Amino acid sequence: MTRAAERRLRLTMNLDAAIENEEFHLVYQPVVETATGAICAMEALLRWRHPELGAISPVEFIPLAEETGGIIPITRWVFARVADQLRKWRAEGVEPRRVFVNVSGQQFIRDDLPGYFRAMSETEPALIPFIGIEITEQAAIQNMDATVQAIRDLAEIGIDAALDDFGTGYSSLSYIQRLPIRKIKLDRAFIADLPGNERDIALVRAMVGMANGLDLPVVAEGVETAAQRDFLRGVGCSELQGYLISKPVPPEAMADLLRQSDRRRR
Ligand code: C2E
Ligand code: CA
Ligand code: CA
Repeated sequence: MTRAAERRLRLTMNLDAAIENEEFHLVYQPVVETATGAICAMEALLRWRHPELGAISPVEFIPLAEETGGIIPITRWVFARVADQLRKWRAEGVEPRRVFVNVSGQQFIRDDLPGYFRAMSETEPALIPFIGIEITEQAAIQNMDATVQAIRDLAEIGIDAALDDFGTGYSSLSYIQRLPIRKIKLDRAFIADLPGNERDIALVRAMVGMANGLDLPVVAEGVETAAQRDFLRGVGCSELQGYLISKPVPPEAMADLLRQSDRRRR
């Protein structure tokens, strides 16, 4: 076996026990309003600390978890930890924002998220306005019917959905219109070479214009420079996320960012 295949196999086998062995944790990345710079949302991002191999990127282990179906309990674990964190912040007097969780297409086929959140909305309705989901454009178009249904059910409960990695899935306008989503996240590949790349300038202008025409706010991902921020503000992009604002941080640091943002607003 090649070294890469060996590593894959090892990670795949170890993923099953990672929840039980408490090897996962979450970090949070703020999303700000372009106009004010105030934090308006967050994204929860999963981290795996393997006891021998160290930090494993989700880019490596999420696809493995999707192959084995392990992604279903992992996503449930993420939602449970986000709920814990929201309770903790609220108890500490920190006003949270909506936390968006990345959800694989499979979750809509093999799990009942609407049922899970319907139960939560009965036992703990205060948490619902602080929960959101992100689904990639690609996953959404692959499972259009299941996705439309699940997003509709979740919206009814009060849970917003964002369309992630927008622009990479080759979907058409008519597809997007079928999806009851609340915002679009422009993939970071389109942002990276702004504002110097003519092609990306044209694409970003067109995508933001289209989304705004449908009354959908656009979040730009991977914003790293002030020049990118200024360009995005100019074309009407409503929200920004990226290292320029903050890297993904542990919950304690996220609480500090939230408090700071609230102080500046007052
Ligand atoms: P994504 O959903 O597109 O998440 C954004 C990724 O961009 C994150 O990588 C984030 O750390 C990174 N990022 C944010 N700002 C910047 C920036 O300014 N510059 C650059 N170069 N990168 C930036 P991360 O945390 O490594 O996650 C990678 C992917 O793994 C995510 O892409 C998502 O598809 C997946 N993922 C992460 N957590 C979860 C999860 O809990 N469930 C599922 N299903 N997938 C997850
Ligand atoms: Ca995402
Ligand atoms: Ca993304």
